[in-house]
Formats: sequence, structure tokens, C-alpha cells
Amino acid sequence: MKVIVLGAGVTGVASAWYLRRAGHEVTVIERREAPGLETSYANGGQISVSHAEPWANPRAPLQILRWLGREDAPLLFRLRADLEQWRWGWAFLRECTPARLRHNIRRLVALGNYSRNALQQLRAETGIQYDQLTRGILHFYTSPEAWRGAQHAVRLMRDAGCALETKSADECVAIEPALASTQRRLAGGTYSPADESGDAHRFTRELAALCAARGVAFRHGATAEAVMVGRDGRLSGIRVHGAGGTEMLGADACVVCLGVRSAALLRPLGIDLRIYPVKGYSVTLPVLDPAKAYSVSLTDDEHKLVFSRLGERLRIAGTAEFNGYDTTLNEMRCKVILRRVEELFPGAGDSSQPLLWTGLRPATPSNLPYIGGTRCAGLFLNTGHGTLGWTQACGAGSAIADLVSGRRPEVDFNFCGTRP
Ligand SMILES: Cc1cc2nc3c(=O)[nH]c(=O)nc-3n(C[C@H](O)[C@H](O)[C@H](O)COP(=O)(O)OP(=O)(O)OC[C@H]3O[C@@H](n4cnc5c(N)ncnc54)[C@H](O)[C@@H]3O)c2cc1C
Repeated sequence: MKVIVLGAGVTGVASAWYLRRAGHEVTVIERREAPGLETSYANGGQISVSHAEPWANPRAPLQILRWLGREDAPLLFRLRADLEQWRWGWAFLRECTPARLRHNIRRLVALGNYSRNALQQLRAETGIQYDQLTRGILHFYTSPEAWRGAQHAVRLMRDAGCALETKSADECVAIEPALASTQRRLAGGTYSPADESGDAHRFTRELAALCAARGVAFRHGATAEAVMVGRDGRLSGIRVHGAGGTEMLGADACVVCLGVRSAALLRPLGIDLRIYPVKGYSVTLPVLDPAKAYSVSLTDDEHKLVFSRLGERLRIAGTAEFNGYDTTLNEMRCKVILRRVEELFPGAGDSSQPLLWTGLRPATPSNLPYIGGTRCAGLFLNTGHGTLGWTQACGAGSAIADLVSGRRPEVDFNFCGTRP
């Protein structure tokens, strides 16, 4: 089949890889000059199956209310006169019940496990390099109250099939000695040895090169303007604008992987996706003193920050801001991250040379992505991966290739059917 993939972020490139492997003729349409330059550019780097608790949980509404208006809050809702934001917020509240949390965690863990296996297979098969480390993820707590409150989520994750180990402060430092200077403030942690980390942008670039070598066509600098559907309800083509002007590209199938831009493209077709942009930040520092730098990927619960070692760089990412599509870099939020790094790992990274970045997570209220078909025959979705797009990329790519090929994916997930 002739398949068009829209978007060359980590999701689109992984989809193209598995579609090509399934024998399809694949073209990727990307408006930027190279793959992986938007949300997949400088994320937290975690392949995080076992720490996948969604933002929507029973504690969230109160916590968000407490943080309202606080410029340095880890999760900040800037209320706007924006119907899209309010509808998303309402749907988010409905996901905050204990029953929905349990359901969502089960689905996220199933997809995450499947995806991590797919990534490991891809690595073994191709030898792809992306500053990967397979040393697990340690989620540490500096507040005893938060540590006690986390036990319920830990039980839920374990019930869903995660190998999550509870650790004392001393054990946390034994796993990651760079935490030694913070030891007396640690309340405890959870460690998932099977989790991993790596540079999502480098992975996307390298996998795109492997795709191209196997015959996938990449059209960079080309913007998808509209999805065309015939009277019979089937996909008839994609209207694309590039350097050569506007053209119609025909295809048997199209997979939409446009991150935060997915909903706008599909709205004219009556396909209503609940994807809202949630802004996050990252700081990347060159390693200054390797003895003080971490190499196990870490999550700091108090500040909702993740830390990954990417070769000779330290990546620190996090914070969530609900403020529309604005991508202005807020210095204050970056300074909060830098302060915390210096506090936890003094002298580990060179703070005089920070690389600051901001990106928009394509977030759904439940944090479950849209993967599967739509009411238009031939039109498929692989988008809305929110906080876990890097973790889920290979599994979601493999699953969408199965669905496009008319096969049932091996993972138990609520794939979109005829109506998303
Ligand atoms: C601060 C931060 C930290 C994060 N940390 C982690 C982490 O540790 N682990 C994890 O698993 N996930 C993490 N994530 C989430 C992860 O980065 C995203 O879920 C993932 O990158 C989304 O990938 P994507 O391919 O769907 O979207 P994108 O990477 O945004 O790709 C979409 C592509 O579509 C292109 N495009 C858009 N519109 C058009 C159009 N009309 N025509 C053609 N092309 C178009 C864009 O240029 C872009 O290249 C983090 C995100 C942020 C912001």
C-alpha cells in the first residue's frame, strides 16, 4: 500500500519505520527542515514504563488549585478565554477518579512494556545509537508526606505489572551515588531497573536515516494543509504546501502524527481530538565533574523534574504549563530548574553554558494516546502521546503498522475504532 505519514517527530518516524518493515511504500511529510525538531527535540529522555502515573489522579484537582497563579509551580494552569482549554480541563477532571486512574495506568503500562520491548528489538536489529543507558529509573522523594502519599500509586503500578522496587534513602544513594549530597533530605524512592533513558532527538534522526536507507521518502519543508475525503467516506489524498507550491498527494492510507497540530488538521472532517498543548522546559548542561554527575535516570518528585545522562551532557526537564500554543521561553521557569540542579548535584554540570528549550506536549486528558482508525476509511491516528511520547514511540509505531496492514496488534490497548 501507499502510505503517507504526517509529521517526522519521534512518533512519525517510528511509524514510518514499522510501516516500511511491513512492506508498504511510505512517504513522510514534515514542515520543518529535518526530523525531530519540535516536541521530540530536547525532552526528558526517559523510557519510563514504571513511572507512568498520569497527571489526572484524585489528588490533582486540589494540587492544581494550590498552584494556580504561582509562576514557579511545577504544573500551572493559566486560565484563558479558550473553549478548547476549558473542554480539555473538564475532560481532565473526569479522568481524576480512582477508577479512571486504575484503568489509565493499566493501559499505559501495557503500551509502555510493549514499546520498551520493541525499542530493545530495534536496537538489537539495527545497532542504533542515541546515548542510551539501561540503568533503570529512580524516582526519589524529598518530602515524607509525598512519599507516604505515593504508596497508593506504587501499588497501582505494581498491580498493572511493573517491577517497581521500594528503596530507603541509603538504598537510593547506593543506586545513584551522585545523590550523596542530598541523602539526609531523601524520604525514599522507587526504582524500576528495567526502565531506560536516551536522547529522543538523536534517535529520531538516526532512525529517519535508517528509514531513508530502506526506501522511505522524506519530504521536508512540506506542510500538510488538509486531508481530503471522497463522497464514499474514504481518504482521497493530502493537500500539501511546499517550496514547489501546493499539490495533492494520493495514498491508500495516511497516519497523522502531528503532535499538538493533529487536532486542528482533523477538525474540518468532524474528528474531534482532545489534544491540548502542555508546555514544558528542559535545560541541558555539559558535564563538568563526572564524579558528581548522575548516570541513572532520576525523577525528583517534589519539583516534578526528570534527569537523564546523555553521553557527556546532563538533561533536566519538566514543568507543565497550560497556556495555549505559545512557545516563548520563560526565563523564570528555566531558572527554577537550574537552581534545583545546583541544589541536588552541586558542581556536576556547567551552569554557565545552559542550553534552554521549551516544547509542547500533545496531551490528552487521560494521557492515553489516540492510536488507530477514524470514521474515514484509510485515515489513521498515532498522536496525543502527552508526557510519554518517547517511551511509547516504538510500540505505537509497531501497533499502527499492524492496524494499517489489517492485523491485530499484540498489545492490549484501547485502539481507536471507526470513531475516535
Ligand atoms: C519538557 C518535556 C519533557 C518530556 N520528557 C519525556 C520523557 O522523559 N519521556 C517521554 O517518553 N516523553 C517525554 N516527553 C514527551 C515527548 O517528548 C512527546 O510526547 C513526543 O516528543 C511527541 O512526539 P510527536 O512525534 O508526537 O510530536 P512532535 O515531536 O511534535 O512531532 C510532530 C511533527 O509534526 C510536524 N508538523 C506539525 N504540523 C505539521 C503540518 N501541518 N505539516 C507537516 N508537518 C507538521 C512538526 O514539525 C513535528 O516535527 C516530554 C515532553 C516535554 C515537552
